[in-house]
Amino acid sequence: MNMEKIGHCRLCGMEGVLEDSHIVPRFIGRWLRKTSEAGDLRNPFNPNKPENDLLSIYLLCSKCEDMFNKSETIFSKKIFHKYQEGASKFDYDDWLINFVISLSWRIGTLYFINNSFDETNSKHLQLNEALNIWGSYLLGDGTNFGNYNHHLYFVDDRISELNVGYKFYLNRSVDGHVGFLPNGEMIIYCMLPGMLIVSNVSPKSRKGWKGTNINRFGTLQKNKQNGPADIANYMIDRAILSTYFLFSGMSERQKEKIKEKVSKKKTN
Ligand SMILES: [Zn+2]
Repeated sequence: MNMEKIGHCRLCGMEGVLEDSHIVPRFIGRWLRKTSEAGDLRNPFNPNKPENDLLSIYLLCSKCEDMFNKSETIFSKKIFHKYQEGASKFDYDDWLINFVISLSWRIGTLYFINNSFDETNSKHLQLNEALNIWGSYLLGDGTNFGNYNHHLYFVDDRISELNVGYKFYLNRSVDGHVGFLPNGEMIIYCMLPGMLIVSNVSPKSRKGWKGTNINRFGTLQKNKQNGPADIANYMIDRAILSTYFLFSGMSERQKEKIKEKVSKKKTN
């Protein structure tokens, strides 16, 4: 059933039919399904319900949705799939910053759909300011996105060999949210299979990142990157949390179903 929803586009404000927008790009869900042995996605927070696609919400008008799709498509071709096939060096142009800002904008916007804006909360004010600047950048002439730093960090396989759960989290999961680090830092955090995208919100930049910063154009190289220790610790915490839910929350019946699916696929 296809139900239309009328409302105001969260980006441009126009009233009209809203698209069922994906917070995390659709191509990631397709890739996970295609490369998964069981052939479906499972949300770690509700492991008994197979997901047909990653979280989507009525957010954007078709014009804004199309604009987001453009940079997403280039990112999927020039970075995501190439990286999954083993490439480690990537040249990029302004489509990369457009993609990353649109992704962080979506995740930040979702935060304010789930948490009502509190003008006495300084974190809310800072996040709101970043979202406004990024929103104008996405809609406008594309010249100014503030002094916020945005990073793309390719996961280090050597670390992922340490632990199965951690490896699963780094290479096979999607985890996007506004992150509050123990040191008081606020970031937009988005783990995609094999890579981490971080937008600095408060502070707008910080030391410890190397070879990850996204500019208007440039080259990213997997083996010339470093991230701050706080971020590595945060990733480990998230990995523990998500695999705990995934493995402890799954019922025996669901485990059997997955086994069935896997064996069926192999005999075909
Ligand atoms: Zn719009």
